[in-house]
Amino acid sequence: MKAEIIAIGDELTTGQRLDTNSRWLSRELGLLGITVGCHVTVPDTLHDGERAFREARERADIVIATGGIGPTADDLTREVLSRVAGEPLELVPEALRAIEAMFASRGRVMTDNNKLQAMLPRTAAMVPNPTGTAPGIDLPGRSQAPPLGRVFALPGVPSEMERMWVDTVRPAILAMNPTGGTMQFRVLKCFGAGESAIEAMLPDLIRRGRDPLVGITAHEATITLRIAARGSSESACQEAIAPVEATIRECLGDLVFGEEQDDVEDAAARACAGRGLRVTVSEGGTLGRVATLLAEADRRQQSAVFHGAHLAAAGDAGDDMLATAESHRRDSQTDASIAIGDALRDDDGQEWLPMAVVTPQGHVAHRHRLAGSGSLRISRAAKTALDLLRRLALGLPTLE
Ligand code: ATP
Repeated sequence: MKAEIIAIGDELTTGQRLDTNSRWLSRELGLLGITVGCHVTVPDTLHDGERAFREARERADIVIATGGIGPTADDLTREVLSRVAGEPLELVPEALRAIEAMFASRGRVMTDNNKLQAMLPRTAAMVPNPTGTAPGIDLPGRSQAPPLGRVFALPGVPSEMERMWVDTVRPAILAMNPTGGTMQFRVLKCFGAGESAIEAMLPDLIRRGRDPLVGITAHEATITLRIAARGSSESACQEAIAPVEATIRECLGDLVFGEEQDDVEDAAARACAGRGLRVTVSEGGTLGRVATLLAEADRRQQSAVFHGAHLAAAGDAGDDMLATAESHRRDSQTDASIAIGDALRDDDGQEWLPMAVVTPQGHVAHRHRLAGSGSLRISRAAKTALDLLRRLALGLPTLE
């Protein structure tokens, strides 16, 4: 099967925002073994949208679009698809109920504009949007086998789009597979080495066309490895995945901290909860990010690892992080403590963040090299501290 992707929005064509949705979707389709023949980006006009969809439906079995399904006047994807399909827009009661429920759960008042979002071309089905208001649109292909030009129109907001892909669109595409069979996925999460270093540690595993296919992506220094196997049944897929997973774990060792939705803070909280450790945090240069991540992980896992935090004003964090961590742990009568100072600059301009972690299992002082900009570099630093906590709690070596 062949796919094409259409990204919709003036923001994209005027260069105000980078189209990351098409990249994400292309990787996902690639993992399903589906070739993406074309990316098209169009502004919010009926004319451009209509032309893009008509052309894409001529060439591709599947067309995935993002953007332009919100409630405002410039959100034209519904109207475009109604013209392309030659079908009027009709109210879908199920979609209206979902939108009403979303507004009720957020305590917000729904406007008539939002009702428009429940209008879909007559033969289209809705794609549920569990984290936003705008339902997606699943427009059937033209009558051929396999039907050419099935369209999935999803929101532009990346988190909503990704969730809808995983919950509804990917299973629907797998069900279209003319050869039958199924696909299964396994996700492993790593921290402590860069994307290319991890790739280099996995001989020949990340190669296009390989089966099972292994994909690698990076987000805020967390590396995600995804194994995708195609087979005649779920158990055949799992059998194909198992040896690949074992090889990855053998090659990467304790760089692998978790699976599926896990992030570093979840692994750290789990490691501490397993040993009954309560953790206090003292932060300068990371602006409270470590405390926030740990508290969020506690909420997700219903653990009670995070005990409290002290946020130091710029310049007040002190120099000796080991001493800070130790005294904070003593004063708060907790088991473990993380201390992070203010950014320091070397003579050659390199910036560093001093950090230390103290646990009953051992302690470590670390100079974290600051790289990147804005919130990304704060996230990386915070996750580095949490990974040190995970390592100490589990009795693993701490990376320099
Ligand atoms: P909404 O209901 O939020 O209006 P929508 O489907 O109308 O959703 P847009 O208004 O087009 O989506 O985009 C919403 C936001 O999603 C944009 O402001 C932008 O931040 C982000 N976004 C849109 N398209 C993309 C894209 N291709 N890549 C990355 N981000 C995008």
